[in-house]
Amino acid sequence: MPRTILRQCIHCRQQLPRESMLCLTSNRDHHFSINGNPPLQGRSSYVCRNKACLTEALRAKKFQRTLKRAIPDAILEALNDQLKGISSL
Ligand SMILES: [Zn+2]
Repeated sequence: MPRTILRQCIHCRQQLPRESMLCLTSNRDHHFSINGNPPLQGRSSYVCRNKACLTEALRAKKFQRTLKRAIPDAILEALNDQLKGISSL
């Protein structure tokens, strides 16, 4: 059985399986990818797939802090779009 890779949510600090989380990756050239699309080698931030964590992470600029860089509006919007597919539970 493959080992489950756990990642910590940047908002609630819970450790969860990587596959169940939302992931924002940024590389040295300041390119961004969401959930590995497109695949990118670089620093990643993870957040739970729930409204509370993603909303708070966006509001408190946690992605900017953990990735240590500004994040383009288009990327923030794309992350927000992810919320639409998430129930509020
Ligand atoms: Zn969380």
